[in-house]
Amino acid sequence: MSICEICAAANLKSIVLQKVEAGAKDYPAAFQYRKLGPVRDIRAKSEFCVCCRWIHSIILRAHARRKTAALYNLQDGTLVECNLANPWSETMIGYRRLASEGSAAEVLRERVSWLELETLALEDRGDYHFSNNQLYVPHAIQWCELPIPTVSAFCAAQTAEEMEHRRFSGRYVDSELCPPALFGVWLDLCRRVHGDLCEKPTWLVKLSRPKNLKVIDVQRRALVDIDQDSSYVTLSYVWGKLEVLQLLKNNIDKLSQDGALTQENGVAAVVMDAMEVTAAIGERYLWVDALCIVQDDYENKMNRIRQMERVYGGALLTIAAACGRDANTQLPGVRSGSREPHQEIITFGDYALISGVVNLKSSLEFSTWNKRGWTLQEKLLSRRCLRFDIDQLFWECQCDSWCEETALETHSIFDGSRPLRGLLAESGRQYQAGHPLAPGDAFTKYTELVQDYTYRELTFEADILNAFTGILRALAINNDEEFLFALPESHFDWALLWESQGRQRDQKKNKTSFPSWSWLSWQGLIIWWAELMRKPTECPVIREITWYSLGTDGSARMITSREEIHEHGHDKNELLRSQWRNSSSSPPNRTLSASSAEFIDSGIIGAYTSHAHVRLKIDHDTGKAIIHNDVGLEIGSLSWSHKPWEAANDDRNDDLHELMVLSRRNIDLFGGEDRPTLNVMLVARQEDGGAVQRITVGTVDEEEWIKLERSWNYVEVG
Ligand SMILES: [Zn+2]
Ligand SMILES: [Zn+2]
Repeated sequence: MSICEICAAANLKSIVLQKVEAGAKDYPAAFQYRKLGPVRDIRAKSEFCVCCRWIHSIILRAHARRKTAALYNLQDGTLVECNLANPWSETMIGYRRLASEGSAAEVLRERVSWLELETLALEDRGDYHFSNNQLYVPHAIQWCELPIPTVSAFCAAQTAEEMEHRRFSGRYVDSELCPPALFGVWLDLCRRVHGDLCEKPTWLVKLSRPKNLKVIDVQRRALVDIDQDSSYVTLSYVWGKLEVLQLLKNNIDKLSQDGALTQENGVAAVVMDAMEVTAAIGERYLWVDALCIVQDDYENKMNRIRQMERVYGGALLTIAAACGRDANTQLPGVRSGSREPHQEIITFGDYALISGVVNLKSSLEFSTWNKRGWTLQEKLLSRRCLRFDIDQLFWECQCDSWCEETALETHSIFDGSRPLRGLLAESGRQYQAGHPLAPGDAFTKYTELVQDYTYRELTFEADILNAFTGILRALAINNDEEFLFALPESHFDWALLWESQGRQRDQKKNKTSFPSWSWLSWQGLIIWWAELMRKPTECPVIREITWYSLGTDGSARMITSREEIHEHGHDKNELLRSQWRNSSSSPPNRTLSASSAEFIDSGIIGAYTSHAHVRLKIDHDTGKAIIHNDVGLEIGSLSWSHKPWEAANDDRNDDLHELMVLSRRNIDLFGGEDRPTLNVMLVARQEDGGAVQRITVGTVDEEEWIKLERSWNYVEVG
């Protein structure tokens, strides 16, 4: 066998032996694209070039998988490149940081182990024309020493020395089935090396274990009740719209009999497989929502839903069915024929290059499981996660991330700076301040969680609060926080400034009733712009008014937001605010509630604040509604992405719209050029004269606000 000119010039062997100097600020020259040509040439050269044959096999197999991987169709003209510029920016950042810290040796091995082959769906024009429409799919290539390490060998014998020696090396997934020994090795390593960091993480300490949990006894194949001290495993999966066996009031007795839980009796495939895995880990009890919550007992169901943080947090680990579309998808690798891992190998002397198992941009990018609203809290509330993905298994715990195709396991504690953690993290989103449920920096974490959550899909819109309740409960317990319709009371003024790309939910259709001021009542991604711009520890919002939550019994309760009230703050602020702000008192005709225990929130909030009517000009290009004063001067803008209010459109620019002041923008945070600015809410009056509805929020110039015809009124927002 020989090697073609292009492959010889690409010199893959030299890439694997690349040296990185400690302290290097940039990528070495060899870390660059190597153009390998169109697929038709590579195929033709496969006749004689061992390297082309290897490359062709990798891309062919990956693209044959496009039904499950959402890859494009491989064409003769599809261009192939080989490069070391990893697309996972986290890794690039990690590389730069580690290189400057002098741990270049480790970086070197890691970088090399993530060499990539890319296929680019470009028009074949004989050159590498860069197009906006280009699609590229990276295929991971990993480096390893000979003999080629395998998953079976790793499970069979692994001393600490062996493990460290092989670390960051590619690994051959040599079994059609996930070796049960692997579960044990990973769990054992996590328990011994990570200890309490994974057993009792800070975010879990204050959450109590569930009492009297109903679970599947995988030995007896029946439902049993366990006490607070019993160890159990949970399952996170996509239920889908299938008719699967559920626990109902009238089948509890039947399903509690030995041998009742079988495939013949209608137990979903994913549950049957999870029972096998539970037993293989050496555990006896498995919790699955469909079979462990009585589905037609509303009270029992809602009680359990309010305790999801306990159910998942209390589990030894969570089995995640990451590639399932519904409950009848098997866990890959549990039964024969359920996965077909395949890797292509090419050797150069003492080294080999081995292709990755998961030939996807990111195995999670296309995962239904990872896009579902419910699974976010199931994932975040799990101490350990055993994730069954297409053709390979992943481990994710509080300290580390492991997979089958790369040797990442180590006997030392994760040092907090390992870039691969970001790369393998299950969520595409990066949480900046550590575990999002851990105590501290609560509002930043809250906004990140809401963004992650609202990016996901819910089968039933009515679940918008239920599927997030476990997360809110954990945040509340860990930060001594109260939530009012999912808005944290400690930062209420700030939380009210959420912006949406979507539109208001049809609450009648969904049989829900969330107030318009809560993001729960809106569809689509929810963001807080101010949060993105601020510096840590600084609050972009200064409190100007006092909100009350109105109770169902006619009483009112003050919302004690912790944002600083600058009664004697900035001199300039003080001078300006005295011109529009009056004194306020508690809501008229309401008694103030003394005890919060008996208070039931009605969903309506009330406050005295400054109102004015303005004209709006919708600018669809920028997604803003420009606020004009009487003489047509621009005095501010409102977030206006997708016509949040159907009635307000370009034809009605002459209409007057009601704005009310919410808070002050902390201009110290937004640069010295900024003028004093107020946060405002656009509201709509209801025909019945009831509480006003929130339409959107924005900002207005304070000096211009003072010049408007204003009124100081009490308003209720529902
Ligand atoms: Zn070749
Ligand atoms: Zn661990």
